[in-house]
Amino acid sequence: MTGLEAARARDAADPLRHYRDRFFLPLGTIYLDGNSLGVLPRATVERQRKVVAEEWGSELIRSWNSRGWIDAPARVGAKIARLIGAKPHEVIVADSVSVNLFKLIVAATALSPNRPQILSEGGNFHTDLHIASGAAELAGKRLDVVERAAVRDAISGETNLLLLTHVHFKAGYRFGIKEVTARAKAAGAVTLWDLSHSAGAVPLHLNRDGAELAVGCGYKYLNGGPGAPAFLYVAEHLQERLIPPLRGWMGHAAPFDFTDDYVPALGIARFLVGTPPILSLSALESGVESFDGVDMEALWAKSVQLFDLFAALAAERCPELECISPAEPEQRGSHISFRHPHAFEICQALIDAGVIGDFRAPDVIRFGLTPLYLGFEDIWQAAERMADILDSGRWREPRFAVRGKVT
Ligand SMILES: *Cc1c(COP(=O)(O)O)cnc(C)c1O
Repeated sequence: MTGLEAARARDAADPLRHYRDRFFLPLGTIYLDGNSLGVLPRATVERQRKVVAEEWGSELIRSWNSRGWIDAPARVGAKIARLIGAKPHEVIVADSVSVNLFKLIVAATALSPNRPQILSEGGNFHTDLHIASGAAELAGKRLDVVERAAVRDAISGETNLLLLTHVHFKAGYRFGIKEVTARAKAAGAVTLWDLSHSAGAVPLHLNRDGAELAVGCGYKYLNGGPGAPAFLYVAEHLQERLIPPLRGWMGHAAPFDFTDDYVPALGIARFLVGTPPILSLSALESGVESFDGVDMEALWAKSVQLFDLFAALAAERCPELECISPAEPEQRGSHISFRHPHAFEICQALIDAGVIGDFRAPDVIRFGLTPLYLGFEDIWQAAERMADILDSGRWREPRFAVRGKVT
């Protein structure tokens, strides 16, 4: 099952194989980093040309109405909603994940003024904790950060907001949204999920699982392009109860009345702040449309198979790498991570050999498994090159120890 011929046979039989044609995949490169920056969908190139040359270039300001620019945040949000199990009007595209976290944390904590605690996990993605610390200070709350295993028991009558990342960016551990949200809810707390490492890869059923608030990333699995805007989700029943702390005109009930008084827009549109970035939004729209027709459960089933193949090959060929991602599919996301004291150098040597993964300090190599455009042979070839780098010790070449600004 771990041979090259078997991998090729699995690609030939893969019902999702044709989706690969929707993307540019640079020749000779095996791209295992779609969880950091998704690849370029072919449709994006023509779409960007049109938006720039025709809409901006010719139609100019009229495009806000005639080309639907003004509706883009809600329109793209509705397309993302299908991928995460939400209603179309429960998702909107705006700003970055960091800014959306800030808006939702401050707005949500105001729901229960007497509850002092924002609770999160130590080792959560750093921007989440940094934003939470600033938001807590402004909202007069206390940020408590506990280890993952202690999160459930730390939820108490003091907890105002539970802030968790669904799939951990490093090892890929996954929380159960349904179970954790229910537990917080039973204690009277609201839960805010960060879906940055799940949306577009891991099955999500926000409505079915009772999720109340969420944010997620546009440039990872959604293939929206570098720095693509992010999205936020607010369950229907909370939308009218949350008052955004960033009261921009785009979130006003009537932005073009130019009134002095602030009146929040009805529904989730109140979480818009300033003018939406149309070029980026249209790239994100093509990224999200690259999921058109894709069955998210089938996508996940393939992710599980890619992971299992990678794990088996690594165990067989690269025993010095310690796999730190959960073996149980229900407990993980769509990436696989390994620990090695020289993870940085190995990662650089791999990139040099055409296999792009990423290094996460201090000692983790992480590979994103994006079933929409990766095949089984890609995994086989990546493992082959990794084994070669380890066996030959090539990663020890001094050039692989040089660190850039972005790692
Ligand atoms: C990628 C990622 C982000 C990105 O935040 P931006 O503000 O959009 O740069 C935030 N949180 C998590 C968990 C992430 O993985």
